Amino acid sequence: MGFDLATDLAARRRQHRLRQPLVMDGPCGRHACLQGQQFLNFCSNDYLGLANDPEVIAAFQNAAREWGVGSGASHLVCGHQRPHQDLEEALAAHTGRQRALLFSTGYMANMGVMSALLGKGDAVFEDRLNHASLLDGGLLSGARFRRFAHNDADALTRQLQRSEARRKLVVADGVFSMDGDEAPLSAYAEACEANDAWLMVDDAHGIGVLDDKGRGSLFAQGVNERTQILMGTLGKGLGTAGAFVAGSHELIETLIQFARTFIYTTAMPAAVAAATLVSLEKSRQDNWRREKLAALIARFRAGAVERGYTLMASQTPIQPILIGSDADAMALSSALREKGFLITAIRPPTVPEGEARLRVTLSAAHEQADVDALLAALEQCVRILPDA
Ligand code: PMP
Repeated sequence: MGFDLATDLAARRRQHRLRQPLVMDGPCGRHACLQGQQFLNFCSNDYLGLANDPEVIAAFQNAAREWGVGSGASHLVCGHQRPHQDLEEALAAHTGRQRALLFSTGYMANMGVMSALLGKGDAVFEDRLNHASLLDGGLLSGARFRRFAHNDADALTRQLQRSEARRKLVVADGVFSMDGDEAPLSAYAEACEANDAWLMVDDAHGIGVLDDKGRGSLFAQGVNERTQILMGTLGKGLGTAGAFVAGSHELIETLIQFARTFIYTTAMPAAVAAATLVSLEKSRQDNWRREKLAALIARFRAGAVERGYTLMASQTPIQPILIGSDADAMALSSALREKGFLITAIRPPTVPEGEARLRVTLSAAHEQADVDALLAALEQCVRILPDA
């Protein structure tokens, strides 16, 4: 009764759902270091291998020397420094938008956008598998909250046609974080255009990775002009931290006035913005990173299919192996750990019941031999499962 937290925690443990942070003893790259031991790391979102790039690190260090380690205030007080402004302009140009606005995290960007634009009398339409921050943003906004079946443009269209809301906002991940598959954006754009709705895409996992300049899902699918709101994060493909929203002058002006998660929080350190300026440029120029990644993805998929594993319909660096039960996913993850591979088991409620999985993520920092070693280790580890 009351605050009986111990009972709740014990139940969570019994369900194999207790979450525990690992204390990492080194940088997050091709390798990860844990309690003095080196692992091959297949669970970071540093898809292009930029988080430990020497030029990005140097930009961070130089800017910290020049600007200090803290911005000292929110953007609207005195925390908006020259590197923040330069990065916003670079992100707007990169994404073909009039303006871009920085947020301290992607979670805050999503919460901020939806509560600034929507309220009572409005409606938000979300893919069932949208990221938690999009679902929370929709709920926080006070708008009528509708979910549609994963990647189902017809279901979305029917919901839009029935809606009489004042403002209708359709929201989807560009690349789904736990499945790696991509949203059918041109069908969504069509549904929005036919029903006077706006489209918002969270491209946390597409920025840097998709399109020949790394401009993400909207360019890869040719819908940039038809998507009113783009949210991207800086902590994945671009290797740093934070997020941005890009769109029209009026959209950004509205966010500056009304997005509480922008207004009432300390601006990210200028050094993060300065480092991102360099990693953004590298992500544009270094097509070899995307080419290397594509080859690693193809190699991993071919090897996994050959061994009979169930993969998802993903062409992106997120390559989960569907396991099923929480206990099996946990057992596999720890067996792989013993063999020197770091891969997280993702369990409900992050994914649906019965769909626990090993979320393998690939990076341009990996080598082909790493993928081969992972496939060989997996082959040995799956033998421990009860029905293997
Ligand atoms: N959207 C998606 C699809 C994500 O995967 C994440 C990060 N896990 C976020 C938003 C949140 O971004 P951040 O980590 O910058 O808060």
